[in-house]
This record gives sequence, C-alpha cells and structure tokens, in this order.
Amino acid sequence: MENNKNKMLRVHSFESFGTVDGPGIRYVIFLQGCHLRCKYCQNRDTWEEKTGTLYSIDEVVKQILKYQNYIKPSGGGVTVSGGEPLLQTKVLISLFEELKKYGIHTAIDTSGMFSLTDNVKKLIDLTDLFLLDIKHIVPQKSKELVGFSNELEIAFAKYLSDIRKTYMDKTSSCSWIYR
Ligand code: SF4
Repeated sequence: MENNKNKMLRVHSFESFGTVDGPGIRYVIFLQGCHLRCKYCQNRDTWEEKTGTLYSIDEVVKQILKYQNYIKPSGGGVTVSGGEPLLQTKVLISLFEELKKYGIHTAIDTSGMFSLTDNVKKLIDLTDLFLLDIKHIVPQKSKELVGFSNELEIAFAKYLSDIRKTYMDKTSSCSWIYR
C-alpha cells in the first residue's frame, strides 16, 4: 500500500455492521460533501465539502480488513455512501483498487449526477454494485427538488445499463429494485 500514503478520503462517519446499504453485512463509509441540495435530505451535515475527517487509504483499508471475516461469509462487502461519493472519485479509485486485491465486494450509493469522465468510468469498472438514487424522472421537477435537472443521472443510468453493470434503483428509502 506504499503508493497510497498521501491519498486521503474526506469522511463523515463509518458503520462497521451495515445491513441496509447493499447485500450482506457491509462496512459503510459515509463521505463528507454533497453538491446537491435535496429538499428531503436527512444528512445535511454531510453537505459541506471542507469539513469531515481526513483518513488515508491505508488507514481505511486496515480498518476494513479487521471485519472481513464476517463481511465476506455474509455475502457483504464495502459500501461508500454520503454525502456524494463521486465527488472523491480519484481517491475512491485507489481505495477500490486496494480492496479488489483482497477480493472485497464494492458498492457505491450515488445520485449519478456526474459527467462520464475517464476517471468516473474507471471507478465504475471497479464497482460491483451501484445503489443509484435517481431523484426525479421529470427534469424540471428534479431541478425544483434537488437543484439540478436530471440529464446527467439519466445518462449515468443508461451507461450502467449499456455496459451491463449491476445496479439498484432506490425508489424510496426502503425499496430497491435490481436491474
Ligand atoms: S444527494 Fe443525498 S446527501 Fe446529497 S442532498 Fe441529496 S439526499 Fe442529501
């Protein structure tokens, strides 16, 4: 993990025994920072992009590995949520590259409100499952609800579908549909 010493994740909080953020038991990393302003947001303390706590990739991976003996047999893995994880795409690439060395399942909970840059596509490749939270299917309603129209997240969902990446639609806080 030598090359990861200076790569830092800006974290809001951790949960070592998550059961609602993907299959099995999951180590959940809630990242700090979100560019949306959903009117119904319950995690407003994750919005600010310059607060939270910085952790190196090495620190986070070491922490996760302590739990792999019950995460793996449960069919679980690691889920990155937020806030908005894709604001830290470059560092997540390094984290997931490291987790893949240990055969750990990776998931991201995101709005998908991002352009499909090379780095975003690289992170998509390293992610086993997306928990995709499309905010509203009507562009103007999306803008009213979260501050952005929905073209980017619709394109994101289409890309996941085109490359046959597994994702789940988050249609409500307690209902997920596998695609
Ligand atoms: S994307 Fe999530 S964290 Fe960001 S404002 Fe919306 S509900 Fe809150």
